[in-house]
Amino acid sequence: MELSLNPARRTDLGKRAGVTGGLLGVLCVFTEFCFLFPHLLVSADGRAFYSEHLGLFRGILQVAIITTFLLGAFSVFSLRSKAHGGIAIVLALVALLLGGSEAEPLTHQPRAMSAGLDYFVLELLVLGLLFIPMERLWGLHEQRIFREGWQTDLKHFFVSHVGVQLISFAVLIPVQVFFAWAVRADFQAHVAAQPVWLQFFEILFVVDLVSYWVHRAFHQIPWMWKFHAIHHSSLQMDWLASSRSHLVDVLVNRVAGFVPVFLLGFSPSAIYGYLVFVSFHAVYIHANVSHRWPYLRWLFATPEFHHWHHTSDEEGIDKNFAVFLSFIDVIFRTAHLPAHWPSRYGTTQFQPPETYLGQLAYPFKRHEETPYG
Ligand SMILES: [Zn+2]
Repeated sequence: MELSLNPARRTDLGKRAGVTGGLLGVLCVFTEFCFLFPHLLVSADGRAFYSEHLGLFRGILQVAIITTFLLGAFSVFSLRSKAHGGIAIVLALVALLLGGSEAEPLTHQPRAMSAGLDYFVLELLVLGLLFIPMERLWGLHEQRIFREGWQTDLKHFFVSHVGVQLISFAVLIPVQVFFAWAVRADFQAHVAAQPVWLQFFEILFVVDLVSYWVHRAFHQIPWMWKFHAIHHSSLQMDWLASSRSHLVDVLVNRVAGFVPVFLLGFSPSAIYGYLVFVSFHAVYIHANVSHRWPYLRWLFATPEFHHWHHTSDEEGIDKNFAVFLSFIDVIFRTAHLPAHWPSRYGTTQFQPPETYLGQLAYPFKRHEETPYG
């Protein structure tokens, strides 16, 4: 067998299988908790959908538990250190003990707030299955899936997904309270009566216009930059790097983007369509892919467009602020799309620490400006 002939390759594969199995095992255990305590851990919006497709989700869970076990077993047989694979096997057993694919709710008490643990597990699975192969197929820079800083980014991903309801309340309530006076019902009725696809593009445009200036302020006002520097601190770009953002950065951006949507009164289906689309697009433009999108790149933000925003190369500093419509940068003369790709990423001013809590605390601390790069 080839594996036994090449110990280095075998060790590498064993480690990967162990880490992947461990991660999948954690997701399986989280999913068990979702089955056991749905009112506490599953987002209210998703519950009806999950009950309709219960058989499918139970099937996926069963496959995931078996895969975790197999990855763990492969790792144990391939590596001298049994830690990685052992943890995966233990997690698969814990998931089975918690009820496996047959787990039933232990509580039926409805609650006002619930965590979005389901949202975290599903998004991570869907995005991982979509973007990891994409980055293998069209990889731009040679880098590992488990590159430096991935654990920190995963923590950001975890908080923003599990806390989805809390974050959306923190966005919706203040806007609804402070801007209620500006609402004109008859005007909103006209807006919501338009075709959904038209509203979708209108939302893209108004949110992008606001986001452009908020994003520019985050770069050019020093105290705001300390928050946004967290997002720019990734030294390698990939799909998971998109989730590295300070909570204040996330909240300010969402509040600013929601104000025009709330005032104009778009229909819920247009808003949901927009949210699903931008959540995938935002991940895509951070991905380590070499897609260039000739011509279209001057209209829509592409990976190339956004990689230039993240560069620490002098030519790309404070360029390409738009989230989706790159022509906004063309209009305001901040677009930068040369023939080559950026050579490095990260910040040139301030380099935040690599730990999650360190990054949360970073903007609130006094510190000397430490040039980086
Ligand atoms: Zn930025």
